[in-house]
Amino acid sequence: MSDRTTPSAGRLLVRGCDVLRVPPTGECEVLRARDIVVAAGVIQEIRPTGMAAHEVADVIDGRGLLAVPGLVNAHTHSPMVLMRGAAEDVTVEGWFNDRVWPMESNLTPADVRLGARLACAEMIRSGVTTFADHYFFPEQIAEAVAESGLRADIAPTHFSNRGQEALESTVRFAEEWHGGAGGRVTVSLGPHAPYTVEDADLRTLAGHARRLGVRMHIHAAEHLEQTHSSLERRGITPIRVLHETGVLAAGALIAHGCGIVEDDLPLLAEYADSTAVACCPKVYLKHALSPLTPVRDLLAAGVTVAVGTDGAAGHNTLDVWEALRLVALTQKQAVRDATWMTVSDTLRLALRGGARALGLKDRIGALEPGMRADIVLTDLSGTHCRPLHDPRAALVYSARAADVRTVIVDGRVLMRDGELLTMDESELLAEADAVVARVLDTSHGTAVQHYAP
Ligand SMILES: [Zn+2]
Repeated sequence: MSDRTTPSAGRLLVRGCDVLRVPPTGECEVLRARDIVVAAGVIQEIRPTGMAAHEVADVIDGRGLLAVPGLVNAHTHSPMVLMRGAAEDVTVEGWFNDRVWPMESNLTPADVRLGARLACAEMIRSGVTTFADHYFFPEQIAEAVAESGLRADIAPTHFSNRGQEALESTVRFAEEWHGGAGGRVTVSLGPHAPYTVEDADLRTLAGHARRLGVRMHIHAAEHLEQTHSSLERRGITPIRVLHETGVLAAGALIAHGCGIVEDDLPLLAEYADSTAVACCPKVYLKHALSPLTPVRDLLAAGVTVAVGTDGAAGHNTLDVWEALRLVALTQKQAVRDATWMTVSDTLRLALRGGARALGLKDRIGALEPGMRADIVLTDLSGTHCRPLHDPRAALVYSARAADVRTVIVDGRVLMRDGELLTMDESELLAEADAVVARVLDTSHGTAVQHYAP
């Protein structure tokens, strides 16, 4: 025995599963009938099944299931699940000014906590083990993440109209929570967008990010109209604003980037190692936006691309299976090339890409010895996946969130055979039903911000 006080503490064996291998380049492959050995939250070994298991606290029967790395939701606003379905069939302006920003002025810290907890429950159910969040009352989200057992990078949203004290409080949140919840919570600084945050604040926050060794998470060039209006108002694109204010130099996760133009690509390429763009196609389709995130150009420039849902007030779900499928479909259509954004490349984008985008590439995004044990067991035996010629294709084009059976984060089981172990769903849903009418009430006529990029 290596440790006589707790001989098997934290040791977990997932027995007999197939394992999705996602290499940095080339085809993904499925390794058949493996055991995954986990200790202290880390994958120790992935070996052919059948060897004797010593000193194991828990054995999960993985036979008939495919183990995949936990999905990464690279851009969301988790508490917005409270507004799911409450802003439909509207323009971008209507979505912000008539629906979402008025509703957000109703939110209390307790509402944000509740929304984040509900979002965590939904994400565990769909095999999302890590998410990049961007919202107000970030300490409430951090507490929800700590409770749920998930992993998250949380960016406290900042608007310049909130003033200097608000800006400083977002920096204090980073100082307090970066590396929190046993390392599962990381923090990025979160200026909302170049059109709601002044250059001076962008510079200040970028300086704090460099000082603290954290990243930036910001909406920019969300669509082409924003790029055009920035060029008209100040003669430079939103991406050049990020370049000039030091945001790119600090390392940035950019949400959407559908309005990134050719002149922006060299600016992004200059910081390619630490720059990522989160593509969330369902919301672009819903808002009738074109073009989409220029994924092919970004990848050619060496920039990381990842997959996100955005908040549920636009995306309606936090289902990254749905999001990655839409990335594959819309990108094929956008460049009129059915042979690109292959099944393997789509999986790599969602997994390794998501990990890189959050600055976590050495910890998550692949099932390999030394990586944190964020493992999702999927059941591809449903009629919608059968006959199962190619499990990789099933993951991209057939699988559903409901096919996720068991979810492990940092070696801890959060859902087992479809049962959530860290959260009480029925209690959460009852609490949400009790507050939703108040959250959706916009009769007060106020809003947290006005959209006029
Ligand atoms: Zn967003």
